[in-house]
Amino acid sequence: QHPSARGRTSDEPIVAGVAISHPDRVVFPDCGVTKLDLARYYEQVADAILPHVVGRPLTLVRCPAGQSGKCFYQKHLTDSMPDTVHGVNVKENDGVDVYVAVDDLAGLISLVQLGVLEFHPWPAREDNVERPDRLVFDLDPDEQVSWSSVKQAAAEVRDCLKALGLESFLRTSGGKGLHVVAPIERRSDWDEVKSFAHGVADLIVRTAPDRYVSNMSKAKRRGKIFVDYLRNQRGATAVASYSTRARNGAPVATPLAWEELAKLASANAFTIENVPERLRRLRHDPWEGFASTRQSITAKARKLLQ
Ligand code: ATP
Ligand code: MN
Ligand code: MN
Repeated sequence: QHPSARGRTSDEPIVAGVAISHPDRVVFPDCGVTKLDLARYYEQVADAILPHVVGRPLTLVRCPAGQSGKCFYQKHLTDSMPDTVHGVNVKENDGVDVYVAVDDLAGLISLVQLGVLEFHPWPAREDNVERPDRLVFDLDPDEQVSWSSVKQAAAEVRDCLKALGLESFLRTSGGKGLHVVAPIERRSDWDEVKSFAHGVADLIVRTAPDRYVSNMSKAKRRGKIFVDYLRNQRGATAVASYSTRARNGAPVATPLAWEELAKLASANAFTIENVPERLRRLRHDPWEGFASTRQSITAKARKLLQ
């Protein structure tokens, strides 16, 4: 018997060895998705999501009363967490933060069992949390920005990164915007990565200051797309590919092939309803090559940003 299945009552279904309490509890009220549905979703997409969450410090969005209730971000391991998850020590100025990490599907499901609706991994792995392994450009459109402009922005970020020698990959956030993600070898530290990402954002703003901002200030964002490069600083996270979002319709942050951008209807078009079927139908991983791409922030690229 799996350790986390201990003490369960007989009506609790087991998913990946984890007993799901209150399986029929509705966690997404607007679309009737239950806790068991959610666990089964993650079980179905296990092969796709695990490479993006395993072995990384995680920030969790927990919603004890479901998606429509109060949710909160949690990054620390607590005593109430099962032994299917473990801690990752991250040095901070005032000591050590112990983040949550998982090794496998049982770990992921045990967090779903605890009411987690979103998984936000660090862009760094637990064996070296000081060396990020990806860049994330999070495109945050103001309300007035058209969807076609958001899509154009993703394509422009891709072109800009390409000119800097970096291949990148596209994902819906499951919310309002798109993410452009570039894998990097673990050579640069956080300072280098953040300043490079900031440089890229500023370059994009310089090419079209009427459409983009790289400044956090909300007032300056009116009618524009905020090129959020701050996902690339130490301690920051971005939602994991294939994670659900705690928003109406149970949307999923979904990796796409660049060829799919043109016909993409919205940032929340993919949901727990259609993603498993999409994965079954796809002939190729939309992020084929993501894990095997070997590239890094070069001196030449840094120079191009100056
Ligand atoms: P959208 O497309 O709607 O912008 P998104 O996932 O990109 O969806 P953002 O608001 O752009 O959402 O980014 C929020 C990111 O900031 C999240 O991915 C999360 O990792 C991080 N974040 C926000 N608030 C907190 C918080 N209180 N604690 C930890 N991380 C947070
Ligand atoms: Mn965003
Ligand atoms: Mn953002």
